[in-house]
Amino acid sequence: MLFSFSKPLKARTVVIAVALMLVIFANGVFFKHVSEVYPLAGGNILFVLSLAIVLLCVTVIVLTLLSWRYTLKPVLIAILLVSSLVAYFMDAYDVVIDNHMIQNLLETNIKESVDLLSLKQVLYFVLLGVIPSVIVYRLKIKPSSFKETVIDKAKVIGIALLFALVVIFSFSKYYTSFFREHKPLRYYANPAYYLYSIGHYAAETFSHPYSGMAPIGQDAVISPANEPRKLMILVVGEAVRWDHFGLNGYARDTTPQLRKEDIINFTQFTSCGTETAVSVPCMFSPFGREHYEKEQALHTENVLDVLKRAGVNVLWRENNSDSKGVAKRVQFEDYQTSEKNTMCEDGECRDEGMLVGLQEYIDAHPKGDIVIILHQMGNHGPAYYKRYPKSFEKYTPVCKTNQLEQCSKDEITNAYDNTILYTDTFLSKVIGLLKTNDKDFATGMFYLSDHGESLGENGLYLHGFPYSIAPEAQKHVPAVMWFGKHSTIDKAQMAASAKEAHSQDSLFHTLLGFMDVNTSVYQPELDLLHVGR
Ligand SMILES: [Zn+2]
Repeated sequence: MLFSFSKPLKARTVVIAVALMLVIFANGVFFKHVSEVYPLAGGNILFVLSLAIVLLCVTVIVLTLLSWRYTLKPVLIAILLVSSLVAYFMDAYDVVIDNHMIQNLLETNIKESVDLLSLKQVLYFVLLGVIPSVIVYRLKIKPSSFKETVIDKAKVIGIALLFALVVIFSFSKYYTSFFREHKPLRYYANPAYYLYSIGHYAAETFSHPYSGMAPIGQDAVISPANEPRKLMILVVGEAVRWDHFGLNGYARDTTPQLRKEDIINFTQFTSCGTETAVSVPCMFSPFGREHYEKEQALHTENVLDVLKRAGVNVLWRENNSDSKGVAKRVQFEDYQTSEKNTMCEDGECRDEGMLVGLQEYIDAHPKGDIVIILHQMGNHGPAYYKRYPKSFEKYTPVCKTNQLEQCSKDEITNAYDNTILYTDTFLSKVIGLLKTNDKDFATGMFYLSDHGESLGENGLYLHGFPYSIAPEAQKHVPAVMWFGKHSTIDKAQMAASAKEAHSQDSLFHTLLGFMDVNTSVYQPELDLLHVGR
C-alpha cells in the first residue's frame, strides 16, 4: 500500500503531494514544448529543472488558495479529474484550455463529448484522475481550527512564493525570454492555466461596468484670438529610458541632432505605466495615473476627441502596434506594413516612413489647426538591433538575437543605444518638417517616451514590472519640446520649470493649452506651457 490511510495527514501535506503528482505526471506537453524552445543541453537543463520547481510552487499556491477545510477533498478531486482530461486533450490535440475553449466546452452538448472518447482518454482519466482521486478520498485529514488553517496557508504560500522568486531571479535572463518571447508555453501549465482561464472567463462574463462612450469637454471651443494657425506634432516614443538619452547627461551622446536644436528638456518626467497598453491610453485620458482604470478609460473620450470637437484636424500615424483605443474616432493610418510605409526592409518598417507624405497632409488641410500624433516603434525590445538602419550602428558589438540570455550586458546596451541614435535623427527630421511650415503656422513638437526599460539591472530586462515596485529605469522617461519662430513662450521660465517633477498626466492639458482650446476639463496647473505664458 502506497499510503497508510489510518494515520491523519496535515491538509498541506496532501496539497503538496497532489501538486507534485500533477507537475510530474500531468505536464508532459508543457515540458515537451519547453524542451523544443530550450533544447536540453548545457545551461538549459538547469533552467528546465528550475521551471519544474516554479511550476510546483505555483500549483501549490493555487491549490492552497482553493482548498479549505470542507472543500479540500472535493476541490482536489475535481482538479485531479479535470486535469487528467486536460492532459489528454493537450497531448492528443495540442490544444490549450483558454477562456474561449471553456466557452466552447460549456456550449458543447454531451453527445459530442461522448463521441470524443477513446481508449487513450480512458487510460489518462483512470491513471491520472480516478486512482489519485480515490486515494485522496480515503485519506484522513488532521482537523484544524479556522485560525490554524489560515496561518498554515499563509506559511505555505509565503514559502512557495519566496522559493519561486528566488529561482526566477537566479535564472532571470531565461525567465525574461520565457515570459516575454515564449508566452504560449505557459498555456500548457496544467492545472494553473485552465484554472486561470476559468477565472478569466467568469470575470469577463459577469463584469460589464462600463458601456458606450462617456463624453468629456463638450464645451470645447478654440479661443478666438488663435492666429496664426497651429501645427503640433506629438511623438509618442517607445521604451526609451531617461538616463540613456544624451541630453540628460548620458556618457554617450545618443542625441547629437537634438543637441543642435533649441530644445526644452524635461529632466524629471515620469510615465503613467510601465507598458504601452497602460501608458498610452492613460496619457491621453483625463484621469491621470492615480485615477486611471483601463475599462473606464476605454469607455471615456480622450483629449483627441476634445480637440476634434473644437475643430482641430487630428491625424494618428501608427508604427508601434495600435493606438490602444486612443485614436478610434480620429483619422488613423497604419505604417507597420509596406502597404503604406515606403521605408520597410526585411519586415521592419522605419519610423521615418511616417514622415513620408506628411507635408501633403498638411497642405490638404488649408483650414483649422492641426495635431499629428506619430506613434513610434522606437526602442521596442528585445530585438533592439532590428530597430535602426545599419548606418546607425555606432556602438558595437551588438546583441543580434531576441534571446537576451545569449548576450552580454554590453551587447544589449550597445544595440539599445544605437536605437536612441536613430530616434534622435527621426526627431530632428520632425523638427525639420515643422521648420518648413514655420511661415504659415505656430509650430511645436512634443516628444515623450511611453515608459522606460530595464537593461539587466538586478536581473531585470524589458519593462512591464508592477508600477509600485518597478525600478526608476522603467518609469523615468525622456520628454522634450521644440517650438517654431511664432512661439511666444518664455523660454527662461520654461527652462526652470522643466527641471521640476512632471508626469504624463500633463499631456492632456498641455495639448489643450498649446492649441488654445477653452473647455471646463482643462486644468492650467497641469499644462506644461502654463508657466511660460
Ligand atoms: Zn511601450
